[in-house]
Amino acid sequence: MLVLLILVVALAIIFGVADIRRSLITKPIFAVFKKILPPLSDTEREAMEAGDVWWDGDLFQGKPDWHKLHSFPKAELNSTEQAFMDNQVETLLKMLDDYKIVQEQRDLPKEVWDFIKREGFFAMIIPKAYGGREFSAIANSTIVSRIATRSLTAAVTIMVPNSLGPGELLMHYGTQAQKDQWLPTLANGTDVPCFALTGPEAGSDAGSIPDTGVVCNGIHDGKEVLGIRLNWDKRYITLAPVATVLGLAFKLYDPEHLLGDKDELGITCALIPTSHEGVEIGDRHFPMNMAFMNGTTYGKGVFIPLDWIIGGPEYAGRGWRMLVECLSAGRGISLPALATATGHIATRMTGAYGYVRQQFGMSIGKFEGVQEALARIGGLTYGLEAMRVMTAGAIDMKLSPSVVTAIAKYHMTEMSRTLMNDAFDIHAGKAIQCGPKNYLAHGYMGIPISITVEGANILTRNLMIFGQGATRCHPYVLAELEAAANPDAEQGLKQFDSLLLKHIGFALGNTFGALWQGLTAGAFNSAPVSGETAKYYKQLSRMSRALALSADFSMLILGGELKRREMLSARLADVLSQLYIASAVLKFYEDNGRQQGDLPFVHYNLQRALFEIGRAFDGFFVNFPNRVVARLLRSLVFPFGIGYKMPNDAIAVQICEALSKPGVVRDRITHLCYIGEDEQDPTGLMENAFIAMYAAQPLMKKIYQAQRAGTLPRKQPLLQTIEQALAAEVINVAEAEQLTKMNKLRFNAISVDSFKAGTLEAMGITSAEVV
Ligand SMILES: Cc1cc2nc3c(=O)[nH]c(=O)nc-3n(C[C@H](O)[C@H](O)[C@H](O)COP(=O)(O)OP(=O)(O)OC[C@H]3O[C@@H](n4cnc5c(N)ncnc54)[C@H](O)[C@@H]3O)c2cc1C
Repeated sequence: MLVLLILVVALAIIFGVADIRRSLITKPIFAVFKKILPPLSDTEREAMEAGDVWWDGDLFQGKPDWHKLHSFPKAELNSTEQAFMDNQVETLLKMLDDYKIVQEQRDLPKEVWDFIKREGFFAMIIPKAYGGREFSAIANSTIVSRIATRSLTAAVTIMVPNSLGPGELLMHYGTQAQKDQWLPTLANGTDVPCFALTGPEAGSDAGSIPDTGVVCNGIHDGKEVLGIRLNWDKRYITLAPVATVLGLAFKLYDPEHLLGDKDELGITCALIPTSHEGVEIGDRHFPMNMAFMNGTTYGKGVFIPLDWIIGGPEYAGRGWRMLVECLSAGRGISLPALATATGHIATRMTGAYGYVRQQFGMSIGKFEGVQEALARIGGLTYGLEAMRVMTAGAIDMKLSPSVVTAIAKYHMTEMSRTLMNDAFDIHAGKAIQCGPKNYLAHGYMGIPISITVEGANILTRNLMIFGQGATRCHPYVLAELEAAANPDAEQGLKQFDSLLLKHIGFALGNTFGALWQGLTAGAFNSAPVSGETAKYYKQLSRMSRALALSADFSMLILGGELKRREMLSARLADVLSQLYIASAVLKFYEDNGRQQGDLPFVHYNLQRALFEIGRAFDGFFVNFPNRVVARLLRSLVFPFGIGYKMPNDAIAVQICEALSKPGVVRDRITHLCYIGEDEQDPTGLMENAFIAMYAAQPLMKKIYQAQRAGTLPRKQPLLQTIEQALAAEVINVAEAEQLTKMNKLRFNAISVDSFKAGTLEAMGITSAEVV
């Protein structure tokens, strides 16, 4: 007892008396911390500090407050935005013939360009005061998504000026004079913007762009002014071939110290009319056969006045932070909208095709193999919609959540890739044959573009989600990094000391919390709802705690090395991402009034998310270099093993049933999908064939009965059977007409395009046209 007492008193003195604690505990730990910490470059620091922490913070810190999640406002279109959807968007959709746009014209028709500009499609984010539409993020997302189900080319064309680009940058950082000059002409379409960051040598590593600007005096409008002499060479720039105003990112240097005492000011963004002397809009690229404008731009020795810097001279060198912040908002809207569009059209059309297409005497959608793939398409589409709405909702809360938008960008584009592959597998030859009747091919071809742009996916998963998440979402790490970087070492030590105690408390809380929840399988965790989804909240809280614990241990053991161990950190990123996906689905279900018909989709997504979390943790424990810590963590988090399973077959069947019959669930799950009104349109044709076949079911039953009774022969073309059924009075004249019409629709819907000899050769581009 005495020894114990002495020990407790000693510990109390060491930890309780600040000076003793600092010299005995904090100082050595601080020294190690500084040693293992990788030196942060300015670009890394700016990227980490940019943006807001939101729901990702709750998930990362191990104690998600589910009531808070439910209290985030439901993202919805207001009446003006809905009217725009119902009028301008619907009109535009009818003007678009994607096959012609992509394969024949390789551009939007002039009347479409004019309509888009006139109706303010390029002005969705520009404030009304400047003639813009000032739409919410959810409206922007919904509009782009709906258009993308009709034409990816039109959607990308509209999306770009409304995400990262001159408009967004001007609104956040532009001087009043710049806003007054550019925003009205961007809003009415007189000016078309593009933004050029990427070049041949700098893609993902955009901070290393070799394009330069040197501060100097030069002649502008006949007068000598202080300005910048620019050299740039950019590629892959969307809208560049038609742009009238170029947003340009370059590195600014001031060797003569005309602006201050720094030689190198850093990345800077300027706005330059493309008509300005020396600006070259180069050749056009041809990205995955898509017809949206994309190309190169370059300039040598181009002189611009200093006040063309976005934000004016005081924003010289602050471009990287501007880009990271704005990119984060755009990333949460554009690519998620495109990915969701893929889900909506794939679900609606594949559900219908599975019913219409028959093989071995039955609809292919009845085969379990096909159902497994169709359930994945429908399940992922529900998850996509939930994430689209929740992420846009965050942006509408005036947040710029950089980790959440990176999660949305990566996972939603990957989910769209998975489900599109499934849609192709089910459609088989029908999806392969290109032509006006193919409603999937262009979406399929566009997916690699979504994967690549706005942060290529491998980098986004491996570096951004956890790299940024760990520092931004952790309650203490960013502050600890700042303490370590404090030039006043004594002050830094004091800051670190106060953080260290809290950090230790946080880590101990997570250790015991994770063990308790592991032993009890989260049974005592609270859930904000009762019913079938309550269990998921409990499991997600448990996994959130496990993430907080594992993240802390990884940083403790690996330190700066963790940055290079992307395979490990990406697995923790997957855990965080799946927690986000699962949260979005639960919120979506609640926000939409707990629709009974949605439950199979909710179960599918939640069970899939938990399974993926278990798989990510398993890979993390297996590969964690310190085997003792890995085993300890595994035993704490999963003392009885990882029990999460993929959704069972019964759930898959329920999803397929909902998607294989006309009704409210199918309509709700695919509400963004454009469906042509008549049978001239491939989506209209498939939809009409599906509905006609569904409606004809009772008549087909009469025929099957007659076949079983021997009144009608089996295994012959349906048209012949219909005629014989009429003759045998199995069906009446009206019923025969209905079946004949249905059969015609069915046949047309499963047919594909074929081209007369020479037609394709006449249409195709020759290599001479591609520079
Ligand atoms: C159709 C299209 C439109 C575009 N529009 C624009 C535009 O309007 N404006 C503009 O400025 N840019 C634009 N881009 C450029 C786009 O943002 C870049 O393509 C993207 O940043 C990737 O650069 P990269 O293609 O050179 O790939 P690279 O940077 O060469 O990357 C190759 C691979 O390496 C991976 N990788 C790189 N670094 C890491 C890392 N540290 N960890 C893990 N993996 C890593 C990447 O994920 C990728 O898989 C566009 C591109 C395309 C294809």
